[in-house]
Amino acid sequence: MHDRIGRNVNFFHLMKKTLNTLTIVNSPDDSALDELCDRLREKSSSLDQSDAWVGEQLSLCAQYGVFRWFVPQSLGGLGWTSSEVTAGYLKLAQACLTTTFVITQRTGACSRIVSSDNHELQKTLIPPLLDGSIFATVGISHLTTSRQHLQKPAMMVTPTDNGFIFDGFSPWVTGSPAADFIVMGGVTDSDEQIMAVVPTELENVIVSRPPELVALTASQTGQVSCQNVFVDQKYLIAGPLPNVMSSGVGANTGGHQTSTLALGLAKSAIDYVIQQAQSRDDLNKIGGELLSQWETLIDHLMAIARGQPLCSNEELRTSANSLVLRATQASMSAAKGAGYLATHPAGRWCREALFFLVWSCPRSVVDANLCELAGIQ
Ligand SMILES: Cc1cc2nc3c(=O)[nH]c(=O)nc-3n(C[C@H](O)[C@H](O)[C@H](O)COP(=O)(O)OP(=O)(O)OC[C@H]3O[C@@H](n4cnc5c(N)ncnc54)[C@H](O)[C@@H]3O)c2cc1C
Repeated sequence: MHDRIGRNVNFFHLMKKTLNTLTIVNSPDDSALDELCDRLREKSSSLDQSDAWVGEQLSLCAQYGVFRWFVPQSLGGLGWTSSEVTAGYLKLAQACLTTTFVITQRTGACSRIVSSDNHELQKTLIPPLLDGSIFATVGISHLTTSRQHLQKPAMMVTPTDNGFIFDGFSPWVTGSPAADFIVMGGVTDSDEQIMAVVPTELENVIVSRPPELVALTASQTGQVSCQNVFVDQKYLIAGPLPNVMSSGVGANTGGHQTSTLALGLAKSAIDYVIQQAQSRDDLNKIGGELLSQWETLIDHLMAIARGQPLCSNEELRTSANSLVLRATQASMSAAKGAGYLATHPAGRWCREALFFLVWSCPRSVVDANLCELAGIQ
């Protein structure tokens, strides 16, 4: 059996099988999380193939109850605090960045539904999202960080008596070929915004074949078009509002979650440098310095997660971007020529680090990164 873009759906939809729960990870310190991370780490190197998808990895996460972390107990989740979620993401990102990134997009969709006033929609979609039997993702960056310089909005939405017509495209939708539902945003002709769940089975929802990326290709991120697609009122999350992204929570641009993933990846590379330093004295100082910078940023990250910030989200993200780029390149330098082999993780870490220069990057962070790269103080 093949999906609408001709790929084998058995693999793609492995995660949709009804799953028997193995072990629920009850806290970020639970040894079950370390066990899950080991299993994800083992699989991470196979994700560089062009057609790969993290279906098996998501199935594993479902079995360990990861999708329950982010949902309040009143809706059947574990209701982890922001600090717990941050600590959990940090461990997952060190094990497999691609899987963790896909989980953030899935969670972004879930959180938007959870924070809406549409209780019927919650009743229908949250239980299968919790057990991993459906996959949802987000297509909202055209309201925030993508296509902002264009005159015409990428996605127009026209309210009707009983729903909305979506017309346009969302340029970046992670996991789109596997998605049952996409949380999408659009702009009305009176310049207000609407966010709704778009079922991908609707006619004229067109999922393009995801392009090969510099890294994270197995996130299967690509464009989704809606050609005058009618979406029933029952799928409304929020709007029409002047800025629908500021309502509710989830998938917020410029939040601390993106820095969490950057710091998770940085730690994998730093650990490698430190491990090499055990037999190479010249690397001791380098590994120690990178680790000390990482620990400082972790203090800042956890302070933000606790709601007692020592710096702004943007400052943290700028520093996390800088560290992840430097740490991953230090791992390449430490690995020497061997690190340049495609099979060595250092090369993958370097490529993955570039993602943080473009993913959900607020203007101030882009500017600060560019200044650092240009050597402007
Ligand atoms: C791997 C990956 C996965 C992603 N997953 C998701 C997802 O699941 N959901 C989601 O909503 N978003 C997702 N995003 C989107 C992401 O968060 C950013 O919004 C996106 O990377 C911004 O890049 P852009 O090319 O769309 O930006 P744009 O600003 O649209 O830039 C595109 C091009 O336009 C030109 N341009 C830019 N600014 C100007 C200007 N001022 N004047 C003239 N020309 C200009 C440049 O040539 C630029 O290359 C993903 C992105 C990536 C790379």
